[in-house]
Amino acid sequence: MQAEVFDVVIVGAGVIGHSIAYKLKRSDPGLKIAVLGDPMNSLMASRAAAGMLAPFCECQKGDRFFRFCRESLEKYPAFVQELSTLSGVPIHLSTAGSVMPAKSVGDQWQARLEFFHQENIRHEIWSVEKVREKLPDFADDCGEVIWVAEGQVNNRQLHDALVAASSKLGIRILPSNATGFRHDPSSIQAVVTDAGLVAGSKFVLAAGSWSLPLGEGLGLSLPLKPIKGQMCRVQVAEGRLDYTIHGIMTYVAPWGEGNGLILGSTMEDTGFNPVVEEDVIQGLIDRAAEILPFLKEAPLVESWTGLRPAAEDLMPIMGASTRYENLFYSTGHYRNGILQTPNQADYLAGAILGGLRESIPEFDPARYDL
Ligand SMILES: Cc1cc2nc3c(=O)[nH]c(=O)nc-3n(C[C@H](O)[C@H](O)[C@H](O)COP(=O)(O)OP(=O)(O)OC[C@H]3O[C@@H](n4cnc5c(N)ncnc54)[C@H](O)[C@@H]3O)c2cc1C
Repeated sequence: MQAEVFDVVIVGAGVIGHSIAYKLKRSDPGLKIAVLGDPMNSLMASRAAAGMLAPFCECQKGDRFFRFCRESLEKYPAFVQELSTLSGVPIHLSTAGSVMPAKSVGDQWQARLEFFHQENIRHEIWSVEKVREKLPDFADDCGEVIWVAEGQVNNRQLHDALVAASSKLGIRILPSNATGFRHDPSSIQAVVTDAGLVAGSKFVLAAGSWSLPLGEGLGLSLPLKPIKGQMCRVQVAEGRLDYTIHGIMTYVAPWGEGNGLILGSTMEDTGFNPVVEEDVIQGLIDRAAEILPFLKEAPLVESWTGLRPAAEDLMPIMGASTRYENLFYSTGHYRNGILQTPNQADYLAGAILGGLRESIPEFDPARYDL
């Protein structure tokens, strides 16, 4: 392995690492790029996520983070179309939108509407009669709903497509884990893996929650921790629900094309904890069934755990290192990394190749002296 020197070595094989590789290679096909890490890591967030593209339901204020997420949502249709064509992997992307029942929104109803007005977000209020017509499976006591124009992607298909595209574009996919780095005080020469050294000119740390232990090998203290989410998938007839539902401490997300509904999710600060608990999964089903009673009878297909990479301030950590001249970060995407994927890939490609239009201080690694 040591003889070859890559232009860019990306550590982390989730949607973040692979999308950066994809964007770099599309921008400059001559670049020699390697992506390191297990693309099927059983706890990785990219395959555990629900795939909601939900800046409007998730954000409470129109700050820079919200605008970044909104820009990313706008990039999604073109991003998915190009990626799917190039990789040959179909990706289910829905723009049917999200619904928030009054029963779940509670006293936040007015605040949500004010936010949508202020930010000029396309939304509608559906009366109880309209809910009965558009959402016949809803429980009778759900009340009115707010519909909002956002999206939903099957994130496992998205990840499959990114890995396939990387391979087709000639990006080297090395399934070995990094165990450390060969470096001096100001620059990195190579990543150390069980299979040998992977040398490069530039390096990107994009290993989700595992960026924390990997950073330690560089003397860096990333203020990052894994936030565990337990989820499950149930089988339902195709087309039974087109919308993503934001419910009572729960959400229901359609994966399309016979893949059923995803019910999520817990938020647990319990470290690198892989356990899936039957009673917790049953709790998700029970809460979702308060909105969609038929879910009580829907066959459970699978349940799982994934780890969201959360920085102390819950903002992503993206851009050039202040400590190593050839290191870049893209991590800490927390609850919305699937949503941020296209915009994040553009942002990182700009930072790595030069020509970044605007460096965003809220995301800058310098805020943590990284
Ligand atoms: C339950 C759950 C639900 C979510 N729902 C949504 C949602 O609906 N919408 C949304 O936008 N976001 C959602 N997210 C968040 C989103 O999934 C993450 O923000 C995003 O996937 C982070 O991607 P990543 O590539 O940085 O990390 P990961 O997907 O965790 O990937 C990390 C990669 O690093 C690799 N790695 C680990 N150790 C090493 C090592 N030593 N050397 C090399 N590589 C290593 C792993 O193998 C893996 O490939 C959810 C997350 C969870 C857990």
